[in-house]
Amino acid sequence: MNNFFSRRNFILIPLASFLKFFLKPLKVYAASKETNEDWSLSKDEWRKRLSPASFNVLREEGTERPFSSALNDEKRKGIFYCAGCNLALFSSENKYNSGTGWPSFWASLENAIETKIDFKLIVPRTEYHCSRCGGHQGHVFNDGPQPTGKRYCNNGVALTFEPE
Ligand SMILES: [Zn+2]
Repeated sequence: MNNFFSRRNFILIPLASFLKFFLKPLKVYAASKETNEDWSLSKDEWRKRLSPASFNVLREEGTERPFSSALNDEKRKGIFYCAGCNLALFSSENKYNSGTGWPSFWASLENAIETKIDFKLIVPRTEYHCSRCGGHQGHVFNDGPQPTGKRYCNNGVALTFEPE
């Protein structure tokens, strides 16, 4: 009997650590860590600062419904800022109509965003977030227009727009 259990553990323990290795990325749900200490706010502090929709995207990595943001059709010249900390993230010069229903850009402003891989839809995707407050913005794909070939698919509620 004892021999049976120790033999089973011998198999189960390596199996469990093997599974843990693969399941770990699934737990990457919360917004990324901020890089600036001034923006190291608690969830409650963020909740007070943001609208419920912005909080859901920026701090919980939610996704807004497509075609729900007025910024999707925004065609004026100007700058798009992080709705969490007001860092300039995108220029209208890099915005294009991707037809997806989310504001889309083929490039971000320099040093504005950082990326990580998430597995929310099981298939790995490249998540990106504001480099200052860590607020989730969207996902970047490789089916965008030239010259970068990138498509930054951004949630409108995670941005504010200031026309030139
Ligand atoms: Zn930010």
